[in-house]
Amino acid sequence: MRCPLCGYEFDWKEAEQACRSCPLASHCGLVRCPRCGYEMLPEAKLIGWMRRLRTRLRKRRENALFR
Ligand SMILES: [Zn+2]
Repeated sequence: MRCPLCGYEFDWKEAEQACRSCPLASHCGLVRCPRCGYEMLPEAKLIGWMRRLRTRLRKRRENALFR
């Protein structure tokens, strides 16, 4: 993924290592840029969650139609 602040590209492992020095809980749900320390929401996770939610809603609607 790419940092929206400084444009540095990094992967999950790097972000996890950067997060290890965080004084807060290590599982804060945020991704931290190893270069500038900017914290952002993990977009991939968010998109996956939204997609799951949408398919669940669609299935529920189909079940209501074909009952
Ligand atoms: Zn950055």
